[in-house]
Formats: sequence, structure tokens, C-alpha cells
Amino acid sequence: MAEQKRDYYEVLGVPKNASDSDIKKAYRTLAKKYHPDMNPNDKEAEVKFKEVNEAYSVLSDADKKAKYDQFGFAGVDPNMSAGAGAEYGDFAGGFSDFGDIFSSFFGGFGGTQTRRNGPIAGDDLSVRVNLTFEEAVFGCKKNIEYNRIEKCSECAGTGAAKGTSPEVCPNCKGSGQVRVTQRTMLGMMQTTKACDYCHGSGRIIKKPCTNCNGKGAVRLRKKIEVSIPAGIDDGQKVFLSGQGNEGRNGGPAGDLIIYISVARHRIFERDGLNLYCSIPITFSQAALGAQIDIPTLDKSVKFDIPEGTQTGTSFTLKGKGVKQVRGRQYGDIIFTVSVQTPRNLTEDQKELLRQLEGLEDDKKRKKKK
Ligand SMILES: [Zn+2]
Ligand SMILES: [Zn+2]
Repeated sequence: MAEQKRDYYEVLGVPKNASDSDIKKAYRTLAKKYHPDMNPNDKEAEVKFKEVNEAYSVLSDADKKAKYDQFGFAGVDPNMSAGAGAEYGDFAGGFSDFGDIFSSFFGGFGGTQTRRNGPIAGDDLSVRVNLTFEEAVFGCKKNIEYNRIEKCSECAGTGAAKGTSPEVCPNCKGSGQVRVTQRTMLGMMQTTKACDYCHGSGRIIKKPCTNCNGKGAVRLRKKIEVSIPAGIDDGQKVFLSGQGNEGRNGGPAGDLIIYISVARHRIFERDGLNLYCSIPITFSQAALGAQIDIPTLDKSVKFDIPEGTQTGTSFTLKGKGVKQVRGRQYGDIIFTVSVQTPRNLTEDQKELLRQLEGLEDDKKRKKKK
């Protein structure tokens, strides 16, 4: 069970009516006193340091301070009822602000403290693949070539020449970091930064591997065969997990992202799983009805157009469209007929049409009577 929380004013050692500058002054003194770099491996100082920061994060914020003054701990953290004695580590508001307070005081000094000898994930890579309409609809295998950073096989990623191995950096004893003392707003402070000697790697390579120039990694031209799933569409992506750049120091490899471009089809217009096309029919087919051939993705099928079909009418061939990627569903083919007005008629054909026109006129006259 955690200890009882101490009142924030008590933590900073200031009276309740202390001015902002008094609070700030008290905080600086205490933050410096308990700073982890001044008290390495001192658990008690670490706890005090957090306690001081938490108190300051509230008392330096006019809004939080007002709530704290009125409601106590319950006013500054909704998860914490007064006197519940939650652990300091649970203090939600305080510690998210802690970094900001810290950096505002230490003003960029110290810089990034990332350990360069820790695991680093490899970058994602991308390639574009152009497919024909059919390749996308039916799926295909594609050979892909791209450049990828891989662990050097000569030195197994160590960067050291064959028969040698990297040595522990004498400057940082292999940690990759060194402590430095700097002058700050809080006075002289110690912090850590990347070791200049080994550039943060913690290791020194006396004789670099000639294959990778000591980098431990090389850029290689890679050829792979990729399965493109049936039904893929223009603008979609295929992810090949772990085929991106290899990670460093045991970090995971990135992904290879394949961007798909699909060529247009000469007949079909694709929208999702459905395919659209326009089918020309003759005037007599439209008028009398007919069986016509409709192209599909494999072979053409017969379709009965009813008598009296108007131009622009759409018909659906169920399930003849595109297969869903990683699914069982199929789209439809939706075709729209366009009635072709006859051209270049022979004199006989023209005569037949005139007779038809005459019959039409007779029909109208009879109706009017
Ligand atoms: Zn090498
Ligand atoms: Zn070093």
C-alpha cells in the first residue's frame, strides 16, 4: 500500500499563500537537490524528485492550483479521491506534464538521449506494380525487384572485419552514453548524452568489415515473387510483412508495401466488384427482341433481350463480376444496350422502312377515329 500523499505546499515547503515566484524558486531548489543525475541509484531521491515535480505541475498551473486549493487531490485528478493515497506513479495529469516542465527548465540541454545501441526497427519500403485488368481480376504472381538494407553477411552485422570483433568502447564502457556536467537555470547539472567516441553504439570497430565499410548492413538488390490476390483493384496496397529494411541491433524488419496500378479494360468499366459495359444492338433486335452475346470475364454468354427494348436499358448478369479479395462474394456485370440507328441502307431496306412508317401512320389514324 502506498504511503499517504503529502500536501503539495508541504512538498515544496512553501506556505499556502506563497507567490508564483516563491513556488518556482522552491521547486528549482528541490528539483536540483533530488534530480536523478545528482543522486544516481538513490530510490528515495527519485521518489522525492517525482513528488516535487508533481506538486509543481499543479501549483504552477493557475487552474489546477485553484482546484487543488478548493478540493484537494480530488480536484486535480478525477481518478483520485482525497486521502485515497494513490501511488505517485499513478498521477495521471502530473507525469504527462512532467516532461514539459523538465524540458522547459532544462531548455534543450542534454538533447536527445536515445540509446543508439538499442534495437531499431527497419524502415518500410514501397514499390509500384502495374497490372493488366485480367491480372487484377484473376490474381497473379509478379516478380518484384527492389533495394533493401540487410545485415552484412560477411561480418554477420557486427561491422568488424572477418576474424575480428567490435571492442567495448573504453570511453563509455559500452553503454553508449556519457555523463556531462552543464550549467543550467538550476545551476550545475549532470545529464547524459551519446558518447562521442563510439557515436552512441558502445562499441569500437578497429578494423572495419570491407564489405559494409563497418556499417554492419548493406543495400542489396532483392528479387521476390509476390502473389497478387484475385479481385485487387487500382489504388489498393499489398503488405509484405518483414520484407522492408532489416532492423538493427535485433530490431524488427519493416514492411514492403506494394502499390497496385491496374490498366483499363477495353470493354469493362470497373466499380468495386461490379463491371459495367455498353452493348450495341440493332433497331430490329430492340424492336423484336433477340438473343445476343454478352462478353464476361471468361467466355461470352447468351442473353435474351425482350421485345420492345429501349435504348439505355440496363440488364444484370448476376455473379459474373469480380471476385472479392479474400472473400467469396462476386460482383455483377451490368450492361446497358444502345440501339444503333441503321446507316447506309439499301434501297430495298429503305422501302421496307417506308412501308413500316406507313403502317405506323395507319395505326395512328385508326386510333384517332
Ligand atoms: Zn560487414
Ligand atoms: Zn562510447
